Amino acid sequence: MPRRRTSSLDKVLGRIESLDSSSLTVLAQRLARERSLLEAVFNLLREGVLIIDPEGFILYANESGARMTGLREKDIGELTLWKLVPGLHDSLEFELEDLQTQIPSVSREVSISYPEDITVRLYIVPFQEEEDQTTESTLPPEEEEKQWKRFAVILSDVTKEKESTAKALESERIQSLFHLAAGVAHELGNPLNSLTIHLQLTERKIRKALPPAEAEKILDSLNICRGEVKRLDGIIQNFLGAIRLDSPDFQKLHLLDLVEDVLKVLGEELRDRDIEVEVEWKRQLPDISADRNQIKQVLFNLLKNAMEAMPRGGFLRISFRRHDDGISMLIADTGDGIARDDLGKVFQPYFTTKKQGNGLGLMIVHRIMRAHQGHIGIESREGTGTVISLFFPTHSRSPRLLPESPNPKK
Ligand code: ADP
Ligand code: MG
Repeated sequence: MPRRRTSSLDKVLGRIESLDSSSLTVLAQRLARERSLLEAVFNLLREGVLIIDPEGFILYANESGARMTGLREKDIGELTLWKLVPGLHDSLEFELEDLQTQIPSVSREVSISYPEDITVRLYIVPFQEEEDQTTESTLPPEEEEKQWKRFAVILSDVTKEKESTAKALESERIQSLFHLAAGVAHELGNPLNSLTIHLQLTERKIRKALPPAEAEKILDSLNICRGEVKRLDGIIQNFLGAIRLDSPDFQKLHLLDLVEDVLKVLGEELRDRDIEVEVEWKRQLPDISADRNQIKQVLFNLLKNAMEAMPRGGFLRISFRRHDDGISMLIADTGDGIARDDLGKVFQPYFTTKKQGNGLGLMIVHRIMRAHQGHIGIESREGTGTVISLFFPTHSRSPRLLPESPNPKK
């Protein structure tokens, strides 16, 4: 990172103890001027910039940040980011426990309903403030470290971008992809049908030819083949569905059932790759209203990504969190993680870091989650792992309640 050149101010600060009171007054004035210059620069930014401490308390907000979140001057140091963005903290806490590491860089799209209905993309980046060497600390080292640990929160308003997604989808690239996919899907339909028929015939023949105990063993494999053929068909349909923006066919579903279904299909591959899976099966969860095939597609895409991120094996954990207005499902892997610079790009169509990747998986997930009024968040740390959180609303969201004046000012 480039460092600022040592200014005359730094030199004066270096010998602060030898200054007399009038020099100190001049120094204080200069510092105030420097500070207001920096503040003015920060206030010019369209992005919101907040600084938070490890507990989430907001220590600073530039004008855009205050405007987007409805933060007032007197809230500084009093309100936490978690209060302004409900649900955010839960998944961070989860991740801290899970990956036993510091908070990694976080990228997430969140809706803020006050003072305006907007969608913001939020990045949280940790940084360490320089320690004040001049004062002796009486705190234990962990507390000391905590005291200097800060997080920069960068907020970009993506409301317009989100609105224009539908239009972007009509773009030429997507259109040509759609035609191609539609053609391929059509072509694949026939061999898939033929496979289904022949698998059925084979099943009958096996039942006739072999004693039941032996037949069952082979039929187990056959059933997996049939399941896979069906899934292939489903993948094609869902792929087209996601591109075409088919509206979801909402039914009452239990998320654990879907997890079970998807893990059955991927089970063998997970074992082969030495990936240990832990699912919070016992969790009492309310039903969600969702499209079975689309959500299965979401899980499939995400588990595939997690698997591909762990070429040398690892640990995959699926857990859940309940909120007032919905459920979050968290998929944590101990894979390679996502580079900080890539975090903002993973939802873009065609963005991939894999030789064999198509870069459409997360775009489809994103679109399906949006069509379900849900959202997806990613927290990742290179070399450590990734946690994907999916939020499913269980009923329509009520507006966030805020105290006092509806007329915020910084
Ligand atoms: P693809 O899997 O075809 O590359 P995706 O849209 O599914 O396309 O993912 C885009 C990119 O996001 C991947 O190439 C990878 O770099 C990154 N990514 C997604 N999920 C994970 C994960 N669990 N761990 C590490 N990187 C991931
Ligand atoms: Mg993928």
